[in-house]
Amino acid sequence: MKTRKLSILGATGSIGDNTLQVVRGNRDRLSVVGIAGRKNYEKLAAIAREFGVKHVGIFDESAWEAARRSGIFGNGVNLYCGEEGLSRVATLDEADTAVAAVVGTKALMPTLAAIEAGKDIALANKELLVMAGKFVMEASERKKVDILPLDSEHNAIFQCMNADRKRKDVAKLLITASGGMFRDYTREQMLSITPQQALKHPNWSMGAKVTIDSSTLANKGLEVIEARWLFDMDADRIQVVVQKQSIIHSMVQFVDGSVLAHLSPPSMTFAISHSLLCPDRGNWVFEPLDFSKPLQLDFSPPDTERFPCLKYAYDALRAGGTATAIFNASNEVAVEAFLKEHLPWIKISEVVGKTLESIPATDPDSIGEVLAADAQARAKAAEICARV
Ligand code: MG
Repeated sequence: MKTRKLSILGATGSIGDNTLQVVRGNRDRLSVVGIAGRKNYEKLAAIAREFGVKHVGIFDESAWEAARRSGIFGNGVNLYCGEEGLSRVATLDEADTAVAAVVGTKALMPTLAAIEAGKDIALANKELLVMAGKFVMEASERKKVDILPLDSEHNAIFQCMNADRKRKDVAKLLITASGGMFRDYTREQMLSITPQQALKHPNWSMGAKVTIDSSTLANKGLEVIEARWLFDMDADRIQVVVQKQSIIHSMVQFVDGSVLAHLSPPSMTFAISHSLLCPDRGNWVFEPLDFSKPLQLDFSPPDTERFPCLKYAYDALRAGGTATAIFNASNEVAVEAFLKEHLPWIKISEVVGKTLESIPATDPDSIGEVLAADAQARAKAAEICARV
């Protein structure tokens, strides 16, 4: 049986927690050789002690400095700093798999470095494929590394396809959505949504950015774009279905009309365990579904009138090139403004739509061009935020 040796970028976040939980339950097949986080070095030190990790990256320079001075890591642990530090951890000789669970664009260069170093990528970060899907997939094919989907939706599709990512008999990918906490809100009710309300997800516990994105369905939009790259499928063959209990994590419809679904309780551990251990199955670390009790499953189509971010994601995907990076950047700026109470929740989609409208998409030849479009979109979105 193959053992995977992990470098976890984003070890202190919610995907990091869940990944470590899966490792604890499957110590004979998984180990951790490197970890990195943004600035919570005390948590990183606790993880390093528990798993015997010798290589630790800290993104934030002052946190790295404080960690060094504190001596909390003890002798024999190497501390690396900044984006360069994340890349060091991602490309460790001892590791065969990099878990990309860092939020935002800072994951881009370290993950590309890991691919170049021949590491498999267990992918949770969304920006990577949304911004640079073309480059990430090209590099992974060239270096013959696996991109293992950690997100529950993409992992569900991966499971339904039997890990064969380019099956020819697939008619449609059916990506499920909880619909978010404002699923049943009227436009009237949406006018006064506060960050406190939006930060409470009914089914999942996740970071702030992705929780807000779930409430606007921008998260589902990002996942549709990711699915396009992971499974080489065009926009017309990717459909979103609201499954409000978050028990079905996604489905695949085949050319003969049959549909396969993946079910589990809403815990990321199931997706992470499958991605890291497939084709084998690991030990479960979260109470599985119990069919001795009644279980309801509801399906409905999403409402893109009330949740326009999903429609804009499809628009961006169809426009291609840098449009999806522009979608992502403008959404990030709008969500940040909402969290600071500078922008009403209902205006998040408007900022995204207007930014997409005002910046023409181009077909990028380099990551540099993608990053330039990202910066341009951020500036434009900030300007639009100030006047809507
Ligand atoms: Mg998801």
